[in-house]
Order: sequence, then structure tokens, then C-alpha cells
Amino acid sequence: MKNVIRKRKYIVCLIVVFLYILSLEIINSKFEEKKDQYYSDKYNELEFQLSSTLNNYADFSSYFYEKFVNNDYVLSSMQKAYHGDEIIRDNIRKELYEYFIVDYNLMKNYDIRQFHFHFPDTTSFLRMHAPNKYGDILKDARYSVYYVNKYKKYISGFEEGKIFNGFRYVYPLRYKDEDIGSAEVSVSMSTVISMLTKGNKNKDYTLILSKKVVESKVFKDYLKNYSVSSISDDFLFDNNFNNLKEERNLVDRSGLKGLFDSIERKKLEHLDQYKNLNIIVKYDNKSYEIIMIPIYNIEKIPVGYFISISPNIRYNLMYQQNLLDISMVSIIFLFIMALAYYISKNRELLIDLSLSDRLTKIDNRRKFDKDLNREILRSKRSNESLSVIMFDIDNFKNVNDTYGHHIGDVVLEKLARIIKENVRFEDFLARFGGEEFILILTSTSKIDAFNKAEKLRKLVEETNFQSVGNITISSGVYQFKSSDTYDDVIKNVDAAMYDAKKSGKNKVCIFKDEEEVSI
Ligand code: GH3
Ligand code: MG
Ligand code: MG
Repeated sequence: MKNVIRKRKYIVCLIVVFLYILSLEIINSKFEEKKDQYYSDKYNELEFQLSSTLNNYADFSSYFYEKFVNNDYVLSSMQKAYHGDEIIRDNIRKELYEYFIVDYNLMKNYDIRQFHFHFPDTTSFLRMHAPNKYGDILKDARYSVYYVNKYKKYISGFEEGKIFNGFRYVYPLRYKDEDIGSAEVSVSMSTVISMLTKGNKNKDYTLILSKKVVESKVFKDYLKNYSVSSISDDFLFDNNFNNLKEERNLVDRSGLKGLFDSIERKKLEHLDQYKNLNIIVKYDNKSYEIIMIPIYNIEKIPVGYFISISPNIRYNLMYQQNLLDISMVSIIFLFIMALAYYISKNRELLIDLSLSDRLTKIDNRRKFDKDLNREILRSKRSNESLSVIMFDIDNFKNVNDTYGHHIGDVVLEKLARIIKENVRFEDFLARFGGEEFILILTSTSKIDAFNKAEKLRKLVEETNFQSVGNITISSGVYQFKSSDTYDDVIKNVDAAMYDAKKSGKNKVCIFKDEEEVSI
């Protein structure tokens, strides 16, 4: 019975543990789902912020092109220059520079930094932002210029340049049915970054560019505009936008370095894969969330990352909620386990109570009945011998009468204890009723049972029962026969014990069919 209960207990335990692990798994996968959704929103948000800012500049640059470039004077000048020699070109360059300078300076107030004309073979003709640099061929460094002059189509997008990196808006120039080159208006990334920073007061933005890309494109004397980023040695910061001190919302330039230095390097191991990235970093006792999205150039090649930094609030809340969920589930399961333990302990106690004698704590008659029936079946099956000893305290009525019922109880208790201590673990000792006890001895012949009964009789005789002094017992011994029923066993062992009483008490008798042998 107890084994069945124990087995059941283990199964219930396993089920509860399984359910607990399952619940944790569910909570965890929900959290992961939420996290994925959260970061996918973050990436989209950053992409949207960037693209909407760039679209504004696209509109602005096309206005500028229509208003100041796409007119007879500029286009005819460009055509003349295109066909002219160096002297003509120098003159026209100067003329155009003078023509544009006021508007160009005005344009700078609106963050347009670069204004650049090129001939159809991509030779630079006039850089308003660096008028002394011209004549260089751009096609290898500037895909956008190459593209517009080859396909005579407008193009826009991010591109590293020989001087600046930036977002380019490049227009084909055509005059009197002749393609005469291209004009480019562009904004630098620092402009885009400062625009975004102004518009989002709880965020900072920055950009890192692949060192390889920068070193392969930028004029040597302009490389000083870049410095190695604290994110990775393979990526550079554009000094311009990290210097925007007054325009930062959360951390200044040195703070930015400290913040990036605090990032676990492991998280930055795969920057060369140009995937969206999210990083939580602790810096200066505050927690920040860094979101990085790859930036692609006009040729759709990834060249760096656009980065936003914000205080880590929502992710922290989500994380805390997850911890809370886990704690709640753990508490509920602990409670269930405690309850199950309490109930099972109570059940065990009830079973113990229902099967044991209240006074002597040994098995009661109910338990004995079960055990004897089972042992009878076992013995029938295995053919192993099985014996039973029944014993009764001699003249116990006198004990009660002389010392009182309470002392009688103490004697019963002590007798049960010393007998229990002197039988094998696999034997079954039970209180049969009143001051009668019964002992089932498995794998034991009647002779061995007799010897055992005799030992116990002597043990009792020699034991001092405090004020009562010595008591004696009379025992009957019976060896089970395969044709016996439960009742036969009881009847016969009782008869043997009766014989021991009848023949003088304090003795052991073996039952023998019809004739008992008294020893
Ligand atoms: P015999 O030697 O023939 O067995 O004589 P006896 O006096 O032991 O037998 P008898 O059947 O006359 O009396 C048994 C006594 O055992 C009577 C009863 O009060 C006492 N008894 C039975 N159960 C308990 C018990 O739980 N506690 C106490 N204190 N006495 C009990
Ligand atoms: Mg008695
Ligand atoms: Mg009796």
C-alpha cells in the first residue's frame, strides 16, 4: 500500500515539475516573442526616422536644383566648359563660383554642405565646398556620379566621398540635346544626425563607417576627419558628428566613448555581418539601449551602422515583468508542491493510524489480517515454510487489578517494544487483541518458530517491568500447511496457546494435529 502511494507520489511530483518547467518555457518563449517584436519595432522606428529625414532633404535638394541649377545660364556655362580648354574652364569655374556663392552660403544654413558639378566622364569640375580641388576623375570613388552620367538618370542615397560622406542627390545635366555632366547636392551625415537629435530629445544618434571603405575612398589629407570608433577598430567615427556637443541629449563625446567602451566585446564580434543589433549597456550607473542598423551605400553594399542610444526603460520594464511572471509561477508551484506534500503526509499518517495499534504502535489486527492472507498466498506459491506464534500475558487481569489500568497499559507498551526489538525486520508482529499478540515468521519451520517463541518467553520472564516486576507469557506455535485457510491458522495457533495456558502457563506449545506436544 505504502509503495503504491510512494510511486503515485513520485508520479505526481514528476508531473508537477514537468508542468513547472513547461510554464517557465511558455513564459520564456512569450518573453522572447515580445522581445523580438520590441526590437523589430525599434529597428523599424530607427529606419523610419532616418528615411523620413532623408526624404525631407531630397525634397529640399530638388527644389534647389530646379531653382538654381536647371536654367539656361548654368547649363550653357557647363556646356561651354565641357567643350572648352583649361583656360576657358578656369574662367567658367570662377564665374559659376561667384554666381552660386551667395546661395550656396545660404544653403549651408539649411544643412546642404556639398554642391558639386562634374563632366560626363566624371571629372570633377567645381566643388563649391572645396573650390580649389577639381580635375580629378570620380568614377572609381563615386558610383553615383558614374551611374548618372552613364544612364542619364537621377540617383540618391548614402555614399562615401573623397572629402565627405553623405547623402547624395545627383542630377543629370542636359543642354540643347547634349549630355553635359551632372550636378550633385548632398547633406553630410552629421547634418542628418543633428537633425534627428534635435527632434528626439530622449535619444542620441551616431554613425560608424567601415575603416576599409573610408580608407579606400577619402583623400589622404581628409582622413583626419575620422577616428577609430570605440565600438570596433574596424569602424571609424566621423569626427564631425561626434563633436556636436551642444546637440547631444544624453551623453557628450567622452560619454559616448565611455558608453561604447562599456559594451561587452562579445556582442560586437559579428559587426562584419551587418545585421540589426540591439545592446543593453550599463554606463555611469544608468542603463542604455543601443540600436544599430546597417547602412547601405548607393550600390547597396553595407558600409557602416546607424546607431541610436536611448535610456533603457521599456526593455527593463519588460524584463522585470518577465521576472515577476517567473516568480509568480514559481510561488504557485511551490504552493502546490507544499500542499501536495502536506496532503500526502496526512494520508500517510491516516494510513499509519488505520493500520497500527494506538497504544503499542505495532501493527493492529487489520494490518495483521492483510499480512497473514498475503503470506499464506506467498507460501502456497513458493512452498516456503511459514509459522505463526500467538502469545498472551499470563494473569494480566491481576496486573490491572493490583496496579491499575494505566500501569497495565505501560506493561503492554513495553512488552510490544521488547518483542519488536527481538524479531527480524521481515517478521510481522501485531497486537491481536487485549493482551494477546501474534507474530508471523516467514521462511520459518515450526521448530525454529518454537525456539524463537522460547527465546521470547525467556526474554519476557527476565525483563523487569518496573513496579509490576516480572510477568510471563504463554505461547502457541503453528506451522502453516498448504491446505490451510486463514481461519485454520488462527484456530490452530490459538489452540496451541490455549494448551500452553492449560498446562501451567509461562510455556510454549506447538500445535500438532489432534495431539499437541507440550515441551
Ligand atoms: P490468563 O493468564 O488466563 O490469560 O489470565 P488473564 O488474567 O491474563 O486473562 P483474562 O482474559 O482473564 O484477562 C485479560 C485482561 O486483560 C482483562 C483486560 O482488562 C486486560 N486488558 C485487555 N486489554 C487491555 C488494555 O488495553 N489495557 C489494559 N491495561 N488491560 C487490558
Ligand atoms: Mg492473559
Ligand atoms: Mg487473553
